[in-house]
Amino acid sequence: MVMTVRDLDPGVTAFLAGGAKQLLIGGRWQEAASGKTFATHNPATGEELARVAEGDREDIDRAVRAARQAFDAGPWPAMTAAERSQVLWKLADLIEERAEVFAQLETLDNGKPITAARRDDVGGTVDYFRYFAGWPTKVEGATIPISVPNTFAYTLRQPVGVCGQIIPWNYPLMMAAWKLAPALAVGCTVVLKPAEQTPLSALYLGQTCLDAGIPEGVVNVVTGYGDTAGAALAEHMDVDKVAFTGSTEIGRTILRASSISNLKKVSLELGGKSPNIVFADADLDLAREGAAAGIFYNMGQDCTAGSRVFVEAPVYDDVAQYIADHAKKLKLGPGLDEGTEIGPLVSQEQLDRVVGYLNLGPQEGARVLSGGARATEPELQSGYFVRPTVFASARNEMRIAQEEIFGPVVSVIPFRDVEDVIAQGNAVAYGLGAGVWTNNLQKAHRVAAGLKAGTVWVNTYGGTDPALPFGGFKQSGHGREMGSEAIHLYTEVKSVLINLGEN
Ligand code: NAP
Ligand code: MG
Repeated sequence: MVMTVRDLDPGVTAFLAGGAKQLLIGGRWQEAASGKTFATHNPATGEELARVAEGDREDIDRAVRAARQAFDAGPWPAMTAAERSQVLWKLADLIEERAEVFAQLETLDNGKPITAARRDDVGGTVDYFRYFAGWPTKVEGATIPISVPNTFAYTLRQPVGVCGQIIPWNYPLMMAAWKLAPALAVGCTVVLKPAEQTPLSALYLGQTCLDAGIPEGVVNVVTGYGDTAGAALAEHMDVDKVAFTGSTEIGRTILRASSISNLKKVSLELGGKSPNIVFADADLDLAREGAAAGIFYNMGQDCTAGSRVFVEAPVYDDVAQYIADHAKKLKLGPGLDEGTEIGPLVSQEQLDRVVGYLNLGPQEGARVLSGGARATEPELQSGYFVRPTVFASARNEMRIAQEEIFGPVVSVIPFRDVEDVIAQGNAVAYGLGAGVWTNNLQKAHRVAAGLKAGTVWVNTYGGTDPALPFGGFKQSGHGREMGSEAIHLYTEVKSVLINLGEN
């Protein structure tokens, strides 16, 4: 039955009531040092949802000091691995208990359809913490047969220390989970800076961490702006590592901040312009569905969005038309309406950005097969809604095919053969994801091997798993999250040599 969440969960109402949300520092909720706050809005209506503390340099400094104290002298890194594992499992259980509150907060703040928020964002977050809850007892060093006489050598894998984590607004809760879970599993402490557009679920997660028994100072949440609070975190001399997800431009800023401060470790998960490749021999029903879902999921605000659909010439018209027809049928509406398939974009700024590209496409010579503009329905006017858009007759050199749009906008580009599509697929600054649709095993393997992308999906698109490494080639980033790779991101390896003596 299709219904609308008319009466918000009492947990949501309670969370939003009672004045501006505060910063979580050293286990206590507190105002920003400046006393300043900023508003977060509901993108479906443009209305203010809540006010949030505007953390800045001084607050970041307090939070880093709390995280340092918790790391150097607190119980978290010192407790047994099994105990840390139990606390993380408890955290997953509590998120699951509070799932509806998390889902509604996510939809209110980000705009995404509530069905996806429940299933993917919250469900995925629970799975993610459970997976990493299993890791503390499995972080191992090695004994290594070295060639120095009478010497025994082994390695220890130890937590890297205080971690700054700066996350975007497209999957606010999930991005917090991707960052927090591996760091916590190995015994690090954290200062988390959510995106200004979507601070609410991270704040609620902060409270949930406390309720799960994560000791004070281990998880600190400082809301605020990127160029103030974010920059202070990236530049801080006592932060050992920064993990960032967001734009390539700010990724560069984060690297620069590390290089001019203490050379802190940096991992970057940046944007993408992922090719999704349909060969004429593919199961076309599956491929066309996959090409559409690959771009329109989360309104295209996804780092692995399949925003360049390459179609082999003989089936080009058929596939392009199918995606356009599919786009026209998608139901636009507020995320809290359970029938909604396409919610608003996250902000006015993002709407303006995307509309800029909608205008650019035809100027560059692309044909609009569907969408191409803002939604015109009166009830959608106050929100940030754009129509899912298909550009046909697109060429890979066009800006609409080279630049990350981060909206429900796809360029459909023809190709001739395997070599041609590998060359075109790679002719872009990014290398995060890629899809291949074919029933020919040789083509599948050749294309998977030839594309410069951190993840290649064959006859499927977009799925991730906590156990599977995720990250980018080229300007899509540095390092891999998920699985054992994430454990490596948050640990340092120490070599120990022991003189065994002569007798
Ligand atoms: P962004 O500026 O890169 O934001 C990502 C995070 O970095 C936010 O928490 C942001 O804080 C913070 N930040 C901004 N400037 C910073 C600085 N100088 N130092 C430290 N942290 C800083 O992304 P955006 O402006 O929201 O979006 C712009 C474009 O980035 C999108 O259109 C899309 O193309 C891309 N993007 C990619 C991803 C991804 O998953 N890879 C996610 C989001 C956006 P504030 O939000 O508070 O400014
Ligand atoms: Mg920004």
